[in-house]
Amino acid sequence: MAVKRARRLLILGLVLVGCHPRERPADASARTAPRAPGVPAYSRAAFPAVDIHTHFDPAATTRELAMMDAQNIRYAINLSAGWAGHGLEAALAQQTESAGRIVPFCMIDWRGVGADGWVAAAVATLEQCASAGVRGWKIPKVLGLGAGDGHGHRLHVDDPMLDPIFERASALNLVVLIHSGDPRAFFEPNTPANERWDELRAHPAWSFADPMYPRWTEILDEFERRVLRHPRLRFIGAHFGNAAEDPDRVESLLVRAPNYFIDTSARIPEFGRHDPARMRAFFLRWQDRVIFGTDLGIGTDPSDLMLGSTGEQPPTPEEITRFWRSTWRYFESNDRAFEHPTPIQGRWTISGVGLPDGVLRKIYGANAAHLLNLAWP
Ligand SMILES: [Zn+2]
Repeated sequence: MAVKRARRLLILGLVLVGCHPRERPADASARTAPRAPGVPAYSRAAFPAVDIHTHFDPAATTRELAMMDAQNIRYAINLSAGWAGHGLEAALAQQTESAGRIVPFCMIDWRGVGADGWVAAAVATLEQCASAGVRGWKIPKVLGLGAGDGHGHRLHVDDPMLDPIFERASALNLVVLIHSGDPRAFFEPNTPANERWDELRAHPAWSFADPMYPRWTEILDEFERRVLRHPRLRFIGAHFGNAAEDPDRVESLLVRAPNYFIDTSARIPEFGRHDPARMRAFFLRWQDRVIFGTDLGIGTDPSDLMLGSTGEQPPTPEEITRFWRSTWRYFESNDRAFEHPTPIQGRWTISGVGLPDGVLRKIYGANAAHLLNLAWP
């Protein structure tokens, strides 16, 4: 089935790249022209964007660029680029093919942790990535929620065994985008009373309610200690710092760790339901440390499309329109109680934060461009 195929594609992560043809977008600082009569509001980003969180199949460049162009997205960072011999070559080729607009982050192989030579191999993987021109390293939630330590226990996000890998990433000046944990509701009983029941029903394997898993706050504690341990390594906490349910907690790490950034991917439904005045203040305070992202997944088949999450069926054209419209409307409008981008993530509404133009420019694009040294006006 199409959705399964999409997920397989994404999991295989056969994507991205490293050399950098420098494209210079001509109009990247201009607000989108006043909307023509009949063009719906929020039909694309008001300012050029960088999507820091995508999962792109390198064989689907045409579809990916078409989606990016339609939404005013200048660059997309492909977090599914794998590593040398496991997808990286195709991802690098796509970076060239896309004139530098689809940019890969590397991964390491989390299988075999604890075996002799595993740490050295992971370090070597990052060195290969960096020498291929890759600027970032993506760590999936398997660290903390899946990988073992080789001695029959769960591998903690802050396990000291991993320190040499992070220190090498720091020396290589890589940016680390790290997903730790998952929505808080996924750790609560998987029943119709769960607020994420629609999503859990479609994906029972996403539940971490079983006591064999650590609790939501336990993984966050480990993640925060990891970020604080490497003050010169730039971290991006995926999915609103892995804690969209608790902006105060996210804020406390931003305060303590100047090397720390967050992305907005797949969590507008969650942070968008907090008090909009509180969230607006958050975005104004942290306008240099918040980076736009979606968790957009695109494969070669039109049905291979993930908009922050997936349901039983691929998204309809109406759902695609709604996803983007609600995304831009959240950041750009002060509208109250409107539909959020990803209906399967919960039956509630969100309220916009109406950010000023200068803040939109940073969060949508300039922050990421600066962090990754992308050509930007
Ligand atoms: Zn993702």
